[in-house]
Amino acid sequence: MLTDDDGGMMKPLLQIEHAAINAIEYPGTRQICVVCEQPTERCEEDAIYTDAGHGPLCLDCYHKTDEYMTEMPEYLARAHNET
Ligand SMILES: [Zn+2]
Repeated sequence: MLTDDDGGMMKPLLQIEHAAINAIEYPGTRQICVVCEQPTERCEEDAIYTDAGHGPLCLDCYHKTDEYMTEMPEYLARAHNET
């Protein structure tokens, strides 16, 4: 008696594994920096946009914007004064 039932079980298992891997590697909403096209490592809620609406940006690229350069955060300015 010939059976080929084995083949039927493989595909669902593989799809579940792919879903599990994707969930680990890309938790939440994955955002790509519009400048360098790398993951911003931020989710939609705390994505970085300039006042002009340019973004999302990763932290590195945001640090290179005029907006960041001209608006030094207070805690950074204080740290400069203490040194
Ligand atoms: Zn970037």
